Amino acid sequence: MYSATDPVKNMADYRAGRLHPSSSLSSIASVDRDRDLKPFSRAIHQANSPPYDPYPALRSMYRPDVTDDGDEDNKSLSLKKRRKKRGQITANLSGTRYDIIRQMVEHLGYTVTKEDDPSSFLIWNDAFVSTEKISELKPFQHINHFPGMGEVTRKDCLARNMTKIQKVLKEEYSFSPLTWVLPGDTTALINYAKDLKAKKKYRTFIVKPPNGSQGHGIGLYRNVEKIPPNEPYIVQEYIDKPLLIEGYKFDLRIYVLVTSCDPLRIFLYKDGLVRLSTEKYLPPQENNLNRLFMHLTNYSINKHNEFYEKGSTTETGSKRSIQFFNDYLRRNDYDVVLLWKNISDLIIKTMVVSMPHVLHAYRMCRPGATANSDSVCFEVLGFDVIIDRKLRPWLLEINRSPSFGTDEKIDFDIKSGVIEDALRLLNIKPTDKKRNLARQKAEAQKRLLRPSKRSEMSGDLSEAEKKRLSLEKRKEELKDLLSRIRKNAAREEFENKHSGGFRRIFPTADRHCQEMYTRLIMTSFQTFLSSRAASMQREIELVYNNKLREQQVLDMLAECQTDDEKCSQSYQSRDPKPLSSMPSIAPQPEYNEDDDDDFDEDDDDDDVAPQKPRRGQAHKYGLYPGSALSASRQTQQKATATRSRPNSAQRPLSGRPESRPLSQASRSRSVGRVSKPAPVIPNMEDPLAVLREEELAEKTLLALNDMRIKFPGKNDSEAEWILDKLHENWKFHKPRIASYWLVKLDSIKRRKVIDIVRSNVRAVIQKVWKLGDIDNLRLMRVINRVFNRLLWSHGQGLWNCFSPSGNSWETIFSKSSDTISATEMNCCRRIVQLCRDCLLIVYQFAAEAKTGASVQGGEVHQSGTSVQRKLLSGDGEGVGSNWNRNRAVGQRVAQLYHTRAESLGTS
Ligand code: ADP
Repeated sequence: MYSATDPVKNMADYRAGRLHPSSSLSSIASVDRDRDLKPFSRAIHQANSPPYDPYPALRSMYRPDVTDDGDEDNKSLSLKKRRKKRGQITANLSGTRYDIIRQMVEHLGYTVTKEDDPSSFLIWNDAFVSTEKISELKPFQHINHFPGMGEVTRKDCLARNMTKIQKVLKEEYSFSPLTWVLPGDTTALINYAKDLKAKKKYRTFIVKPPNGSQGHGIGLYRNVEKIPPNEPYIVQEYIDKPLLIEGYKFDLRIYVLVTSCDPLRIFLYKDGLVRLSTEKYLPPQENNLNRLFMHLTNYSINKHNEFYEKGSTTETGSKRSIQFFNDYLRRNDYDVVLLWKNISDLIIKTMVVSMPHVLHAYRMCRPGATANSDSVCFEVLGFDVIIDRKLRPWLLEINRSPSFGTDEKIDFDIKSGVIEDALRLLNIKPTDKKRNLARQKAEAQKRLLRPSKRSEMSGDLSEAEKKRLSLEKRKEELKDLLSRIRKNAAREEFENKHSGGFRRIFPTADRHCQEMYTRLIMTSFQTFLSSRAASMQREIELVYNNKLREQQVLDMLAECQTDDEKCSQSYQSRDPKPLSSMPSIAPQPEYNEDDDDDFDEDDDDDDVAPQKPRRGQAHKYGLYPGSALSASRQTQQKATATRSRPNSAQRPLSGRPESRPLSQASRSRSVGRVSKPAPVIPNMEDPLAVLREEELAEKTLLALNDMRIKFPGKNDSEAEWILDKLHENWKFHKPRIASYWLVKLDSIKRRKVIDIVRSNVRAVIQKVWKLGDIDNLRLMRVINRVFNRLLWSHGQGLWNCFSPSGNSWETIFSKSSDTISATEMNCCRRIVQLCRDCLLIVYQFAAEAKTGASVQGGEVHQSGTSVQRKLLSGDGEGVGSNWNRNRAVGQRVAQLYHTRAESLGTS
């Protein structure tokens, strides 16, 4: 049986499915079955479905023990193991008196700490929390209060803030009854009453203590002169024509969850309480002003009335559900949708008033937190709203610690859902602790690598350097914006799936509304934080009204990249220091008229020996030292025809270049995203020019197909052999390469790897198109987007290309309004292939350089362990006879490149 005094027993029964938590059920038939089963269905759903993990693929890459192809048993076993290893979510509930919080926390599988453990994942306090406590929290922790929220939850603060904003936004904030804070506003109140009298209007005023609750100390007055003038009271105009249910006045307790203030995210719970008074309502008259059971709807007041009715269902008694209320309204032909639209609007606008205070206080408490960091604060607020006869909602007050008492079944039903769904939305995971540490480390590293302010300010910088720095800054901004857009999208996806009974009301999907609220936020900042309002304008616009989509930001980044390259070229021309820390890149060729026919398809120069490049080609198209065009035209043709290494079919790769470029592929073009005009390109309207461009693109594709990534000191077939071996033993190498590329290399080094391919591709294009400045070429812009995509999300872009669906990068074009030709697409595919090969070679080279290993005739020669042999063959298989190499050369090369490899993070 449900016991009002033993919630622990209730919860045990509830969870065991033995009993519904209601003692007052006279008959099981009277139970609202749907509602009663809901908590169970929630529990079952949770038990059967693994916790949401937005990045499973990424996680498995970091975890060599997690493979893609394990059977179900293994999976569940490793899941169990992992859970144990990851630990528990701990909750510190020492600051709450409500047992239902503990019950729901345990129901979710969290561990309630025995003492007041300040390092718990979740801290729940009924009382206000000091700013010191919030500032001491680690990023993985969550506490149930925001600093600064008192500005709307204390009656006097709410009154002052509402009065202030009503002066600027009268119409928008007309949902708040006129309020005066005594003694300061005494004169204003008296003047207002005089005005009313002059107009022969009579109003009633309700007087409340500034920080009271539960109806304590509340009184009604018709004559303001009777109100004690020097007491610190809140005086409010009384809503004297409320909507009634069965003749009784009522108010609504609405549950609102705020998960973050930077940016603001607000959720509204689908259910709540309707609290009825216990004496039939009459308009206020001198003779009924002191009848509190008629005018006040507080449970704490009305429960003392002998007519207070404990309902056996959510539809009877003095406390009912909002679901019942909605049905009641529908039955009586009220517009329920409009009412809830207005209530949501009231909630958002009230939170907009709180925002400057809360955001300011939060940022003071958490100075290092960026807009992208997860919020350590959340808050479940109880909005008290009264509805008048015209169905207009009025805000009475906001409770920052709404009562979670469960005297009645209806309390348990609704409040348990609020708490459980709120906690689910917070998405607390045992791994948060580790992940946050890693993020902090990465951010610290990023800060370290950023050029210091002092060096930026110093007058020693040349114009080119200054330009480069400002470009870097712009890129950082764009990257931040990009990560914000992505994080928001991921968050929204999570929220959409896990909101339970909550519905997100801000930010809203309605563009028009969002723009309107953004304007209100700006006005709110101007009103309450005028000194900082100007600096906040841009941020607010960017965060709440940002119309930029991911693709647009990527394009802007691509443009920055192009400018950056121009800069670095001019920078390099004065400074011989190579951009890449890997073996030096082939010099950029000057265009030479004589080379015109180098890629003429009819010029069948098949007899050129391997390694002996054609005139002028040697240093132009190879990647890596010597950068020789490694194969003869015959080899080139074969390579173009088969476009694969011996074992390529078995490789877990996709997006391989097409065997032969499509000729005369139809193309449509549009300026779309490539915004700048291309001065060096012939007129696009001219069909001949278009044809010529297509021809040049095909020649570029041929040249790209002929490119090979060279391994320092090894010939092409040796390099091919290395690639094949890595692919053959992909399962073994995958986690290592993932860890090398995604973790060990930082963004600068990752870029250097990509730059090895990029600079050589540029050289090829300059050569084929006979142009020095290729940045405005459409093809180059298209290609730059691919390079950027590969570096996207800390290298995730390139890493995705190794997955079975490795051509997902192609969506950068499918989403774009700009159509690209088949040849251009093939060029991009080839470049992706080259970048993948480049990463594998760099990885292998770095690994060899680190351990000093070299391979000769199937033997692994190294100063250390046999690991190197594994790195190369994975399964310990011997090396083929084609793998003959001069050991002395190998050692020399290893020495030569050791230092450079070190700078790529191998030591
Ligand atoms: P408390 O925090 O003490 O509960 P409230 O401001 O919520 O104080 O007021 C208590 C009750 O008084 C409300 O539940 C409502 O029924 C009634 N009340 C308060 N303000 C008004 C108002 N302006 N007009 C009509 N009724 C009001």
